[in-house]
Amino acid sequence: MSAVWEKCLENLKSSLPLQDFSLWIKPLKVKETSTTISIFAPNKSVKDHIQSKLRDAILNSISQINPKLEVLISTEKTRGRPPTQSDLYPDYTFDNLVLGDANQMAYSATMQIAKSLSESPYNPFIIYGGSGLGKTHLMQAAGHLVRSKNPEKKVIYLPLMDFVRNITNSIRHNKIEEIKEYYQSADLLLVDDIHLIGGKEKSQEEFFHIFNFLFNTKKQIIFTCDQEPNRITTIEGRLRTRFSQGLNLKLSPPELEMRAAILLKKSQSKKINLPISNDIALHIAGHISSNVRDLEGALLKLKAYCDFTGIAGNLVTKDIVEKALGDIIKPQIFKIDINDIQRQTAKHYAVTVSDLSSKSRKQHNVLARQMAIYITHELTGLSTVKIGNNFGNRDHTTVLHAIKKINTDMASSEDLRNDYEVIKLKLANL
Ligand code: ADP
Ligand code: MG
Repeated sequence: MSAVWEKCLENLKSSLPLQDFSLWIKPLKVKETSTTISIFAPNKSVKDHIQSKLRDAILNSISQINPKLEVLISTEKTRGRPPTQSDLYPDYTFDNLVLGDANQMAYSATMQIAKSLSESPYNPFIIYGGSGLGKTHLMQAAGHLVRSKNPEKKVIYLPLMDFVRNITNSIRHNKIEEIKEYYQSADLLLVDDIHLIGGKEKSQEEFFHIFNFLFNTKKQIIFTCDQEPNRITTIEGRLRTRFSQGLNLKLSPPELEMRAAILLKKSQSKKINLPISNDIALHIAGHISSNVRDLEGALLKLKAYCDFTGIAGNLVTKDIVEKALGDIIKPQIFKIDINDIQRQTAKHYAVTVSDLSSKSRKQHNVLARQMAIYITHELTGLSTVKIGNNFGNRDHTTVLHAIKKINTDMASSEDLRNDYEVIKLKLANL
């Protein structure tokens, strides 16, 4: 900052009402030479206010420091910076992202692109999938990484509606070239929700030029889209062709364990700070399978409940979850088929369905069989005789024995309880 201005600020701070100082004076930018001091207001209305109300105070203060300086007050030149501009959200980093089958591929590609910007073969890169699955988060994580590793690279985050607004605005003000130049100055352009460009012909036309420019100068472009982009018929063909030339990867809804892991991670975040147990995370995740945003909503609701009732995170029980989340998580009434139980249990223990009915006495098979019998008994209401028939024609006393065995063992084994919960949750989510 200029030395004269710095002193001047001190003077003005003590001589002007605090509100005038912080609202009008502090945001001003200043350039100083040996003969002049130029003061830039961010826009015309600020400049007018300064001219009419604060000019004397400023001139006075400067002349006390150096009476020879000429003072110029003008507006800042925007240099093509568009009026509507968003930036990266601080939390959307790779560190805060939970990995799983649902996002592994997209994650790896994003990471690679961010690590070797301008050398990546994946240009453009398109992340698509339903709402709330982490598209924006993943895309911004690339932006954060690039900024931290290569601060000289220019990362521009562009929600599609910002683009539409800026184009509309610049047509009115004859500034379309300036706006385009701005986006074309990116090393990494992150275009969020590109599907929203459908049907907006002028925006498509201008975007096409920006895209070509960046692509031809080997600058990276990442898009997110709520569906496979080449399926969107309201986007003109030449733009869709560009999309399909790039790498298109889908984000799927996270599976149960990943949802629970996300809940655990978010529960430990500064914002939530409600350290719940694994069991509770699984319980909530079992009832909310739509998307990650809904998981976060549930967690926030649980936090509010705990805050207001003074319950600590580690004391949260299923009862409390049910009270806090009420309708979100009310027990589902589902009709369970014995085949599903056998399939899910076998899958959980990595055995085959026929192992459950076989004569095998291998300990692992026996465990899986007994668990499947136990759950069948609990969820289907079939008689022990019928259950026996479905497990390799076993006698009903064998079925009773299995039920008793699992019941006793679960009392002392957390692993076994966990197996039981997970299989049931999988069944509830079929
Ligand atoms: P989309 O852009 O696909 O609609 P967002 O990127 O906005 O979804 O994600 C919605 C919310 O879910 C965000 O708060 C984000 O941080 C969170 N989220 C999504 N996926 C994950 C994940 N794998 N790990 C952690 N948080 C996630
Ligand atoms: Mg998004």
